[in-house]
Amino acid sequence: MPVLDLPFARAAHDRAAHRRAEPGLVDDLRKERGTRVLVLRGSRVATVGQRVALFAPDDVAHLAVRTHLFLGEADGVAYLAAVLPEPASQPDLDSEAEPDLDVDWTGMRTLDVPDLEQGLAVEAIALAQWHAVHTHCPRCGTETEVTQAGWVRHCPADGSNHFPRTDPAVIMAITDPDDRLLLARGPQWDLGRRSVLAGFVEPGEGLEQAVVRETAEEVGIAVDPGSIEYRGSQSWPFPASLMLGFRARATTTRLVRQEDEIAEADWFTREEVATAVADGHLGLPGRASIARSLIEEWFGGSLEG
Ligand SMILES: [Zn+2]
Repeated sequence: MPVLDLPFARAAHDRAAHRRAEPGLVDDLRKERGTRVLVLRGSRVATVGQRVALFAPDDVAHLAVRTHLFLGEADGVAYLAAVLPEPASQPDLDSEAEPDLDVDWTGMRTLDVPDLEQGLAVEAIALAQWHAVHTHCPRCGTETEVTQAGWVRHCPADGSNHFPRTDPAVIMAITDPDDRLLLARGPQWDLGRRSVLAGFVEPGEGLEQAVVRETAEEVGIAVDPGSIEYRGSQSWPFPASLMLGFRARATTTRLVRQEDEIAEADWFTREEVATAVADGHLGLPGRASIARSLIEEWFGGSLEG
């Protein structure tokens, strides 16, 4: 069974993890004219003309970089990310571009670029998001040091090493015995916006167990465990999720919402989805998301809107 062809899951570079331990790797690569540097500010990447900006090291040497990360290699070119301090607020990000850096700052949701740039950007965003909130040792509270070209944080007090984390989350297209799709709305979402269910995998839990538990908790629906099928995965580093996509069959149809998590939930036929999307009453997740891919796989084609 082929899995979904998902955005952000088509990296075209080699992470070259074996190079991370080379002493002084980042400094050496910053002296090489052929190195290319992607610049990040918070979770946004510098872009020019709808493409990820890839600078020669000298062109960004003046920036106040917080952390450099080694992203990997492609076709003999080494790639680094230069992570700038997070802007104080959204207006700052929009109004004060970095001096001498004439770029746009683009978030992942709207990043529509070739696979190489997409893969580099999502790796850089995910790693930078981890650094942003893991500045101190979880054992003793000492400020940690970045080592291994950005892939480890080391505690100088107790010698412990800390590695980037990824939090698995399941996202599932649940259908009823009539092949209707369950679409729900979160309480903070705009009216009309719907998606498939999703939730974090809990400690000690398998993925299939998480699909069954989350579906039961959020809408009171029983899933046939034997029907659960893996469809693909997508990194979603806000802050550190790995979305694992499934489809599964419900054995019950009566929806009982968990009110603080689900504002609305209903079963939709394909005709109902097509009509509601066409007349603007139903808003679906963005094209880059695995949620959208799961919905369109069920629908049997792409949906406008
Ligand atoms: Zn420590």
